[in-house]
Amino acid sequence: MSVEIFRGCTRGCRFCQAGMITRPVRERSITGIGEMVDKGLKATGFEEVGLLSLSSADHSEIGDIAKGLADRYTEDKIGLSLPSTRVDAFNVDLANELTRNGRRSGLTFAPEGGSERMRKVINKMVSEEDLIRTVATAYGNGWRQVKLYFMCGLPTETDDDVLQIADMAMNVIQKGREVSRSNDIRCTVSIGGFVPKPHTPFQWAPQLSAEETDARLEKLRDKIRGDKKYGRSIGFRYHDGKPGIVEGLLSRGDRRIGAVIRAVYEDGGRFDGWREHFSYDRWMSCADKALAEFGVDVDWYTTRERGYEEVLPWDHLDSGLDKDWLWEDWQDALDETEVEDCRWTP
Ligand code: SF4
Repeated sequence: MSVEIFRGCTRGCRFCQAGMITRPVRERSITGIGEMVDKGLKATGFEEVGLLSLSSADHSEIGDIAKGLADRYTEDKIGLSLPSTRVDAFNVDLANELTRNGRRSGLTFAPEGGSERMRKVINKMVSEEDLIRTVATAYGNGWRQVKLYFMCGLPTETDDDVLQIADMAMNVIQKGREVSRSNDIRCTVSIGGFVPKPHTPFQWAPQLSAEETDARLEKLRDKIRGDKKYGRSIGFRYHDGKPGIVEGLLSRGDRRIGAVIRAVYEDGGRFDGWREHFSYDRWMSCADKALAEFGVDVDWYTTRERGYEEVLPWDHLDSGLDKDWLWEDWQDALDETEVEDCRWTP
């Protein structure tokens, strides 16, 4: 059973549309959450409760909420979970609380960028030290598996930024073996291709082509697999770059993309979210045909960088964000300048 514990997020990760458009933060009270969980469990008979939101560990009373629920349901063996959390030791304590009676299988964190430089560009303020300290706490508390989420193809990214993901994973395993005194620990690196989204500072950014994404991820895979000491303890999961280009076309498309979607449908396209049904070639040939009369193509929508003057197809939709503020934040990204969390300030 899912219970939403608050809406909004003010961390300001620059790739994140949800964080940008759902401000400000509005929290449910601890008593309100307690009642919802109680009523919901009685009404449904579910045995697991997920405390959901964009960044659940940021609820101002999350420690008390987790402890209160864990205490209340100790006897009933009700499982509690939080979605992937930010990288700090507090979240390991929280995870320990939530799994007091259960199995400690995997903990998930999302540093998103492999290098410190990249994390400044995307405004994900996590240092490698924080990460290592956090996973050390996790392995030290009996967790055996840590999952790390990253993106590939972020603005200004180079091969080197992505290859640093391997170094990070190796440092994680090294530290994990040290604190757990065991070789039986794993770190899984999971990577998705970055797709620029409207109403974010990255709405002007060029998307990385499918070929370059694949080439970059192959280099990363080779670096991880080629490492004799740690490679076997690191799992690597990634998707090829082609679906990302279709996502990018739909993400920043305008009215003309309607003709492409229709053409794909009429050509038999169904359930493209399922890998076995997805046809990149169908999307590209339908796009070529449908867009020819307008003088634009798939690259124009995806891998092209936009300028300040360009009128964007979603500019008439008000998400509560000032376009000039987004532009400034985009410039800050290019300068590798971070902005503070605005949760407690105007
Ligand atoms: S923490 Fe970052 S990625 Fe997560 S919801 Fe907030 S802004 Fe988005």
